[in-house]
Amino acid sequence: MNGEWSLKELYSGYDDPRFAEDMAKLDELCARFADLAERPEGEPREIVRSFILLSEEIEALNINLGSYAGLRQAADTSDAESVSVMGRLMAKNSSLAAPDAKLRRYVASLDSLETVIASDPLLEEYSYLLKNIREDDRYMLDPGAEEIISKYSISGSAAWGDMQQYLTSTVEVDFGGEKTNLSDIRNKAYDPDPEVRKSAYEAELKCYEKIKDAVAFSLNSIKLEVLNRCRLKGYASPLDEALHNARMEKRTLDALMEAIDEYLPVFHGYMRAKARLLGHEGGLPWYDLFAPLGGSDRSFTAAEAGDFLTERFAGFDGELSAMVRRAFDEEWIDFYPRAGKAGGAFCSGIYTVKQSRILTNFDGSLSDVVTLAHELGHAFHNHNLYGNRIMNTDYSMPVAETASTFNETLIMKTVIKEEKDPVKRRALIESRLMDACQVICDIYSRYLFETAVFESRDEEFMFPDRLCSIMLDCQKKAYGDGLDENFMHPYMWLCKSHYYSGELSFYNFPYAFGGLLANGLYEKYEKDGAAFVPLYKKFLRATAVMSVEDAGRVAGTELTDPDFWRMSLEGFKRETEEFIALCS
Ligand SMILES: [Zn+2]
Repeated sequence: MNGEWSLKELYSGYDDPRFAEDMAKLDELCARFADLAERPEGEPREIVRSFILLSEEIEALNINLGSYAGLRQAADTSDAESVSVMGRLMAKNSSLAAPDAKLRRYVASLDSLETVIASDPLLEEYSYLLKNIREDDRYMLDPGAEEIISKYSISGSAAWGDMQQYLTSTVEVDFGGEKTNLSDIRNKAYDPDPEVRKSAYEAELKCYEKIKDAVAFSLNSIKLEVLNRCRLKGYASPLDEALHNARMEKRTLDALMEAIDEYLPVFHGYMRAKARLLGHEGGLPWYDLFAPLGGSDRSFTAAEAGDFLTERFAGFDGELSAMVRRAFDEEWIDFYPRAGKAGGAFCSGIYTVKQSRILTNFDGSLSDVVTLAHELGHAFHNHNLYGNRIMNTDYSMPVAETASTFNETLIMKTVIKEEKDPVKRRALIESRLMDACQVICDIYSRYLFETAVFESRDEEFMFPDRLCSIMLDCQKKAYGDGLDENFMHPYMWLCKSHYYSGELSFYNFPYAFGGLLANGLYEKYEKDGAAFVPLYKKFLRATAVMSVEDAGRVAGTELTDPDFWRMSLEGFKRETEEFIALCS
């Protein structure tokens, strides 16, 4: 195998006659869609049906055309033809925005919406989507005002966000007599040499001095814009808006945070044990949070990774294992790094052919195999959604990483079970706890920080010193005595891009939610065994047609109850105890 993915299921090339036909068809459908929005005449049921059916056809074409060009572009970022096709598709789709908004408003304004939905099996299948359109409309201003808000945000929050990104990606960092950049210096936190980790941390903190004032203006401005927009639109707070967009209830977030709060000392205990192992007294200095403790030196070919994953997943579910086999055998995966190929890893579902495509930069390490397991989890989520209608395949952010993290957990737990060498075993458990500590302690500190900034912003402009002091307070609450007080990270507000979006506030709790949900489901699987598996698959399918709470109920879990989150955290507690025992 050459290790590249196959796209012939979509088109044989840009000269494939079907490609030109589909592009032309998309234009025709866009025109019909605009026409419907202009003249929604006749019975409401017929208009809503036409809206749905046209949207479905447009979506299917967009998936075929967009997947083909987008995937070709990811595999070769210098593919000029793909770049231009993507641009043409974007232009076609942006012409849909105004008619789409009109039709949504039409749906939302129907007093008889419930009756209309109940009168038609197709519309009943889309009941969740249609009701969400109505819910979202409660926070929409008149179209003129919406347009002003969106235009002004381009030179407002979006520009302030670009500035943070520009400054953090171009700031020069002095390190060892040379100049480097922020992402390189932050990566040195994983360096095996303790001296490198410490001096990189010092160099990192120092470079923020050069850009902290500008970035503080950026943060203050974005947060004020969000506060004002939320007030205009009728949200009780930015958190209220974030929860609405996540289709999640406040009491679910409260239950999650209550349980995290109770279990923080478990993670502090883990950090202190890691600190002792590295020769520190008391808590762990920030620069050693990611210190590697050795671990697996296993190496895999792509084919071996395929056999390994197929076999291990078979212990959980035949359907998952069979899908993984297909992914390897039917060329769903683009494995190896190449010049011009996109970095990192992702999975993209192609509903129209009921398959997924996965891009990785596979180098043969165990962590690359775990990355594959992660992306195959997304593919399995897609696989379960292919039974739904085409527009019932989107899910909200908090559940987006459940299947991927669940797969990672399955594989890591198996690898840990199979590892007999106590030092390697300790390192493997530690790598899980290190991740968990980020998802729990660090995310908790970010949630506290963002809450504090929103609470203060109306009253005060926060200069860098003030932001640093809020950040340190939040880190003390979240990391407790797990961290060494003399080596914390006052500038975490500056380097994390998540705070710098006008559209997406509180881009932190979904990580804690997703990580603990996946672990909680794994704990449930440990307890209930095979009986859990069909519920898990039903849950994945439900994530696109229900709120997160209702989807949780499909899996037999109550996410508004802190006990579910406690069960998840108990799993990490047992791993922490094993880690501490292996340390002595
Ligand atoms: Zn993912």
